[in-house]
Parts: sequence; C-alpha cells; structure tokens
Amino acid sequence: GSWVSMPKVELHAHLNGSARSSTLLELARGLGEKGVIVFSDVEHVILKGMFCPFCLLDLFNDRSLTEVFKLFDLIHVLTTDHATVTRITKEVVEDFAAENVVYLELRTTPKRNDSKCMTKHSYMEAVIEGLRRVDAVDVNFTSTNNGVGRTVKSSLMSDTHTYNGLPRKKIYIRLLLSIDRRETLEAAMETVKLALELKDVGVVGIDLSGHPKVGDWTTFLPALKFARDQGLRVTLHCGEVPNQEEIHAMLDFLPERIGHACCLEEDAWRKLKMSKIPVCAIANTSSNTIVWQTSITLSAAIIGGLLESCNSYVGVEICLTSNIRTNTISSVDVHHFADLYRDKHPLILCTDDMGVFSTTLSKEYAIAAATFGKKEIFELARNAVEFSFAEEDVVQELRDFFNMKRDEYG
Ligand code: 5GP
Repeated sequence: GSWVSMPKVELHAHLNGSARSSTLLELARGLGEKGVIVFSDVEHVILKGMFCPFCLLDLFNDRSLTEVFKLFDLIHVLTTDHATVTRITKEVVEDFAAENVVYLELRTTPKRNDSKCMTKHSYMEAVIEGLRRVDAVDVNFTSTNNGVGRTVKSSLMSDTHTYNGLPRKKIYIRLLLSIDRRETLEAAMETVKLALELKDVGVVGIDLSGHPKVGDWTTFLPALKFARDQGLRVTLHCGEVPNQEEIHAMLDFLPERIGHACCLEEDAWRKLKMSKIPVCAIANTSSNTIVWQTSITLSAAIIGGLLESCNSYVGVEICLTSNIRTNTISSVDVHHFADLYRDKHPLILCTDDMGVFSTTLSKEYAIAAATFGKKEIFELARNAVEFSFAEEDVVQELRDFFNMKRDEYG
C-alpha cells in the first residue's frame, strides 16, 4: 500500500497504451453495435490486457512485441476520434493522480485521420481538452497563465484545496509528442512544428517510438535535431531489439533520456554509462540553443571545464513489466535495472502502457522494491524529478516537495 501513497513521478507513459481496459471494452461494444467492428473478435484481445484477479499465473498476459503492436492498432481504431481522445486523456490523468503521481509526462503520437476530419493539430487539441476537463484533481499543464490552460493555484507544498473534505490532489502534467517509426520525415517534421506551436500548453519535448523493427531511425534524425535546436527536449526508445548500429547512433545523438535500453551489448552499455550531456545547457530553454551550438564550435576541453560540474548522464526510463510482458527480458531477476542501480546510473521507473500491460506505477515500484530491496526506493522517485523535462521552477517545486516528504517515506 505504501507504494500507492508515496509521491511518484512518471516520465514514460503512452496515452493510448494507458487507456483503461474497461473504457476500451465499452468503446469496442459501441463500435460493434454500429457494425464497424465485430465485438466478439476484439473482446478477448482487450481482455487479455486486463488485470485478472483469478490468474495466478501471469502467462496468460504475456504478449510478444509484435502482438503488442497489433493491439495498439486495434486501440487506435477504438480511440481515434476527438471525443474519445479527450475522454481517455482525462481518465489517464485521473488514474495517475489517484496513485499519487505528482508529475506526469504523458506522451502521445499526434494522428491524422481524414475519415474523422482529424488533423495532428486537432488530435492534440482533443488531448488538451482532456487535460482541461479533469475535475477530481488540480491540474497544472501549462507554464503560462494566459487563460489557455488551467493552472494549479496552490502549489504542491500546501493543501489549501479540499475535495470531499480531503486535501485535493495536485498533479503537474507536461506533454511529449511521439514520432511513430512508421512515419515519413515530413510527417515527423509536422509533429515537431506542432510541438513548438503547443509549447504554451505544456508540450515540452519529442519522443521517438513505434515498432522498433519498423523504419530506420536516421529517417527522423533531421526532425530530432531540429527539435533540439528549437529548445525541445528529446527522448528515444532505444535498444528494444538488438540493433547495435542503431543503438550506438542513438547514444551518439546524446538524447537526454532513452526508453528501455534492453538489448545493449557491452560496448554500447559502456557508451551509455559514460555519455554525459550538459545539463546546465538544457535547464533553461533559452540558453539551450546557444550552448549546444557553442559546444560544437568551441573545444571540448573549454566547454567541458565549464560544464563538468553540472553535466548529467543519459537517464534511462525503465519499464519492468513492459519488458517482461513483451518477452524482451526473461525475468525481473536478470533485468538491467540492477546493473544501472548498482552503478548509480540515473534511471526512472515507469509504466510504459498501464492499460496494455495491466500495471500501475505503484506496482512497478513494488516490483523493484521486492526484487532489489526497499531501501532507496523513495530516492529513486525523488531522483526522477531531475530528469523531468518541465521548466526549472516546476522542477524546483517538485524537489522541495520530495524533500519535505523524505522523513515520511525515505
Ligand atoms: P499513442 O502514441 O497512440 O498515444 O500510444 C500508443 C503508441 O505508443 C503505440 O502505437 C506505439 O507507437 C507507442 N508505444 C507504446 N508502447 C511502446 C513500446 O513499448 N515501445 C515502442 N517502441 N513504442 C511504444
């Protein structure tokens, strides 16, 4: 129970993969009645992803990577209209807030769907409308107070709002726009430009995801570089399959964070552990461009000396249940989490897709604590703050908040 009450930070959650299975079933039933799909065909596929209290053996829930991506295609059939995108966004935020996630970095792939008159832009408007509709908790999803996004009036530090006699929960949300590896460079560029347009409503960065065996990541490199040059933060799905060439190239790009990092051979593993990125440069978006450019033109020694004190390693977003369910890692005991943890390499426990993998962030913390020991688990949650892509004042507030909670949980 303590893992539910402990404040947590979620940095790797895909919107559609986090949708409630109960909602997906309801949507499937509705589309079944309209004759768009055959409900009995999809029911078992969705149910496979639901938590089953009678399944002592979790084998039933195992999905290969390919099966998982087939499931995403089905989910997208069910969810991709504006009203549903709004609904699942609202529900996902409420679900994370209910288990005391105080900072959620939610990622989603903006989708164009001509049959629904949906553009990438209108898809994102529907997501943002979902954030606005959250009413059970206080939501902050925008740094500006321009009336576009509702902001938390009180900070995390004070319990001034009440809900049913209890202090109202508060959650910070920032968004990452995902590029799907199936997309073209042109479509990826559209996503990056959209992210720039939506900076005022909490979009802080870009993610590269989608089936790891599909497409070539170099296709997206110009879009990712453009994103970074424009001050967006970047995280990449890296090493879900053993493609060492791609893994090395991704690490050479120096993303601030990578997701999974499952299939790194020894030299890539070494590279990951040695790679440092200038955190000072990134802490403040306006200086971001300048320092990145400077580090190219000035000698590494000069810049290195200037920044050494505040450099940071590439943070690894760890999704334990996801890796096991997709058969990427055979069991928690052999998961690379242990190696990173031992080496004090920054890692962040995340859910990936809580609907699809029937997990929660609290469960991920419980698994880590059970397998690797309880001590330091609170520090793990606290340290995740340092890898958030939010503005510095939000990061500072989260730091203060976790420091305040240290006596209770640490
Ligand atoms: P969406 O972006 O539609 O909100 O969330 C679902 C999408 O996230 C999937 O279609 C896929 O592109 C991406 N995704 C979710 N989980 C994973 C994962 O474990 N690995 C990769 N590479 N992509 C994922």
